[in-house]
Parts: sequence; structure tokens; C-alpha cells
Amino acid sequence: MKDALNSRTDYYDEVTGELLQQRWYDAEGKAIWDRDWKHNDSNNTHTFPHDHYWDWEKNSGHPPRLEYVGPNGEKINMNYC
Ligand SMILES: [Zn+2]
Repeated sequence: MKDALNSRTDYYDEVTGELLQQRWYDAEGKAIWDRDWKHNDSNNTHTFPHDHYWDWEKNSGHPPRLEYVGPNGEKINMNYC
């Protein structure tokens, strides 16, 4: 059986080569987890990196991408690396 969490794609800015986002996929190729390293933050409210998770149970067609907050307020989940 394929490990659901071992498929990760890293996305880089094509011009600067900067790491923008890491995205994890499940065994069916669905996005399940994002780690954002950089994105538009015009209100200056984000801490980078931070994680989002895809809630496929809420909407299987276009699931919301929710902000992850750990039990101690951490912004990234160390189970993903
Ligand atoms: Zn984000």
C-alpha cells in the first residue's frame, strides 16, 4: 500500500527560484496539505511558513483550504516535512 503522505511537490517562483509552496497529495492524487512559504500578504497578517489543509469532507468538488493551527498555536504541523 502506498503511503498517503509521501507524495509532495515543491513549487518555486519561476523568476526568482524562491520556494513558494509545498503541497502534499494522497494516494489518489488529491491535494491534502499545503505549506505556504510566501504569498500575497498585503495586510501583513501572515506568519511564514504556515500550513493549510484541504477539507474534502466539506465539499468534494471544491474543498476549502483551511488554516492549520496546532494544539500549542503552532502554524506548521511537524508530521509533514
Ligand atoms: Zn497561506
